[in-house]
Amino acid sequence: TPVIKKVMPIPKAHYGGRHTVTLLPGAGIGPELMAIVKEVFSYAGVPVDFEDIDIDPNADNNDDLNYAITSIRRNGVALKGNIETRSREVEVLSRNVALRNELDLYVNVLHCVSYPGVNSRQKDIDIVIVRQNTEGEYAMLEHESVDGVVESMKIITRSNSERLARYAFEYAKRNGRKKVTTVHKANIMKLSDGLFLETSKQVAKEYPDITHSDMIIDNTCMQLVSNPHQFDVILTTNLYGSIVSNVVCGLLGGAGLLSGKNFGDHYTVFEPGTRNTGAKIAGKNIANPIAMLNAAVDMLRHLGHRHHATIIQNAINKTINAGVHTRDLGGSATSREVVDSIMKHIKIAVN
Ligand code: ATP
Repeated sequence: TPVIKKVMPIPKAHYGGRHTVTLLPGAGIGPELMAIVKEVFSYAGVPVDFEDIDIDPNADNNDDLNYAITSIRRNGVALKGNIETRSREVEVLSRNVALRNELDLYVNVLHCVSYPGVNSRQKDIDIVIVRQNTEGEYAMLEHESVDGVVESMKIITRSNSERLARYAFEYAKRNGRKKVTTVHKANIMKLSDGLFLETSKQVAKEYPDITHSDMIIDNTCMQLVSNPHQFDVILTTNLYGSIVSNVVCGLLGGAGLLSGKNFGDHYTVFEPGTRNTGAKIAGKNIANPIAMLNAAVDMLRHLGHRHHATIIQNAINKTINAGVHTRDLGGSATSREVVDSIMKHIKIAVN
């Protein structure tokens, strides 16, 4: 098998030690969380400037989206909330999916680590989910062939399956992980998931030091709930990845905690791990700001701003350990109180 050399995304827009990154607030709680990120960054003196781009959810064209894509191509890096697509025009597809496809962000990585200070259903979890991010069940190729009969295509390609599998094994190797589990439904979708599974088995042969196994998606959900500690790195298709991510986030404390990373060979997009809009909780000062702040910290690490990343990360951890929790974590703190606590710990660290 030819070895595809992985080119790491290169952060651009580096001027006088500062970086410019594209900011896509999206809908629901996105804008209020981005305002918090900006406030925390400015308070901590982070050398990052934002290029804000709002995408009109009602637009019947993709002008805003194309502008956002051009901006990310220029800056190399983006921080993103969940974008809404209200238009029912068939040619206006989900903008979140379109953005990932256009930028060829073929990997989504969700590192699910327990916070000791959060009262969660399972303790001491440390699972990495490596999810295909540009094809599979999200191909958005649907049509009504005859009245009352809809066909939806799931696309699996060897090339995308192979570079994803290689990413997962390389990740495991780099990070001292011992085991990769391919999650699939190849017993039913013999050709599509069969190709995904077979490709991962081929790639696994190049990594004899890492144990490779596979598991059906249904059983994986059950095993994750009952015995999650058996998992190390999970390698899976797009939709199964979304489901498994939500299950693990649920076990760890919900949608408001973890961040996710979208990688391609050239661009990187950071966002909350479970990609929620949170429309019902928007504007109420109750959304948990941690997931978006963690995404912002991931972005700082990626850009090489390790010092600022560590200061903010420590302030987040101290806030969680001190029990300053929003409602989703069983607490009663407002978003504001969580942010104030984080800023207090930043102040202590920098003085
Ligand atoms: P809506 O977007 O209308 O609130 P939904 O069912 O589409 O409803 P999602 O946005 O997918 O919900 O979010 C799933 C759940 O997680 C919701 O209950 C939402 O309130 C909650 N949630 C998402 N993000 C956060 C957050 N940052 N803090 C607290 N709760 C959150």
